[in-house]
Amino acid sequence: MMRRLLSSTIAASPTISLICRSSHIHRSSAIFCRQMSSTAEDVAMRLKSSGLLRSQGLIAGKWIEAYDKKVIEVTNPATGNVVSTVPCMGAKETNDAISAAYETFSTWSKTTAAERSKCLRKWYDLLIAHKEELGQLITLEQGKPLKEAIGEVAYGASFVEYFSEEAKRMYGDIIPAPLSDRRLLVLKQPVGVVGVITPWNFPLAMITRKVGPALASGCTVVIKPSELTPLTALATAELSIQAGIPPGVVNVVMGNASEIGNSLLASTQVRKITFTGSTAVGKKLMAGAANTVKRVSLELGGNAPCIVFDDADLDVAVKGSLASKFRNSGQTCVCVNRILVQEGIYEKFASAFSKAVEKLQVGDGFVDGVVQGPLINEAAVQKVESFVEDAISKGAKILLGGRRHNLGMTFYEPTVMTDVKSDMLLSREEIFGPVAPLLPFKTEEEAIRMANDTNAGLAAYIFTSNVQRSWRVSEVLEYGIVGVNEGLVSTEVAPFGGFKESGIGREGSKYGMDEYVEVKYVCLGNMNG
Ligand code: ADP
Repeated sequence: MMRRLLSSTIAASPTISLICRSSHIHRSSAIFCRQMSSTAEDVAMRLKSSGLLRSQGLIAGKWIEAYDKKVIEVTNPATGNVVSTVPCMGAKETNDAISAAYETFSTWSKTTAAERSKCLRKWYDLLIAHKEELGQLITLEQGKPLKEAIGEVAYGASFVEYFSEEAKRMYGDIIPAPLSDRRLLVLKQPVGVVGVITPWNFPLAMITRKVGPALASGCTVVIKPSELTPLTALATAELSIQAGIPPGVVNVVMGNASEIGNSLLASTQVRKITFTGSTAVGKKLMAGAANTVKRVSLELGGNAPCIVFDDADLDVAVKGSLASKFRNSGQTCVCVNRILVQEGIYEKFASAFSKAVEKLQVGDGFVDGVVQGPLINEAAVQKVESFVEDAISKGAKILLGGRRHNLGMTFYEPTVMTDVKSDMLLSREEIFGPVAPLLPFKTEEEAIRMANDTNAGLAAYIFTSNVQRSWRVSEVLEYGIVGVNEGLVSTEVAPFGGFKESGIGREGSKYGMDEYVEVKYVCLGNMNG
């Protein structure tokens, strides 16, 4: 059955459409309207009966179409088939969503921490109870292998659980007063309505990582998920309602990204924008937020170096760099982008790493054993192709892969390249695909210089058995996250965020809560009376 699935996917149209259509296609007739694999059809049926396949926006607790009935097609990147449609919304719907969030803020922000905590805990329980279906939805619209998708649900849900607990710890301070008749207090209060703009690579976790702490602190939200993966966002919102989170606290709009973004930026009722996505869009949002002096949290692109020193444990280095490089087919902002390998271990590492990469099974994420799904769309494949061509034209060599996979569509071969130099696009830009460039270096100083030679500063990795070196190098790397002898470091209990152009603010951990909290100083005078 799996063979048939793959051959039918190759024959399917490669068009990945993200267009607004003037005709409204009703949900029941629009779902899976082109050739679909039986696996995907089964998934759709199950999702439909679970009530999780939502195809409307959410404003003030009501599921609604775009006011002009325009829709966007959501496609399965593994097949190019249309999965569903969602509304193509714009400024009007966004302004209504903002009004709903603003109105609800007055009540939600006054609930007790215990009440908010209970709601979030219920939401977490529902996310976990539905982790299989949510994982299927992620695979369907995003393409990552099912096991990895279910892992994303658990990871995403962990933020809701963590912040359900953290809600109760939004402590203020009492400051020793400089004058005897005064008492100085510090209160922590929610910032207000938050605009939440998220990307397609983690359709669930990038939402919960923001909405968890926002709701825990008493904020309300208008979420704009990526138009490439809105279905997971809608299912997540549906479960927030089932969890008893009041209508208007969580609103979801999608459609015309710049129109929605501009409405969120222009509104004086929106007090904060939290964004994960490209550095280019992040800069636009930061500039746009200046007009109303909104707070911003930005989690932008990376260019993660992975430094393998001569003294590294080879197996640990191969396993760690492989896990980080090829997670989500290379489409995460903390994926290893450049592997810097010291001369003494270079040949051994290149050989062992290539052998491990060769074993990665590529295919439709619903197929058992597949660990490398498709890239998100044709543009993503073309970008990877252009980076590889640029490197070859400047002298780099292909050790493994280096072209589209014979499955066609948006599948690209897991690739290893050697003789990569610092001036190549593979080194300078975020690849966001399954290509691992190896760059040799001689000394620790040279590796540090190469690693820091970028405007990005999100994650870096080092592999060494020397404990002093691990401290020394971690301290001088200009990155917000450093993995030492470990390639997978993200967790809800630790701060995630970047230096330099990789962003502002931190997500997860106790620091993540600060992003949604205003600090208010209250001075009580004449207290000796
Ligand atoms: P990626 O290349 O990873 O898709 P983007 O930065 O383009 O990264 O997209 C991340 C999110 O930002 C998506 O939800 C996208 O729709 C949204 N977005 C893109 N352009 C704008 C914009 N001008 N204003 C607001 N949001 C935008």
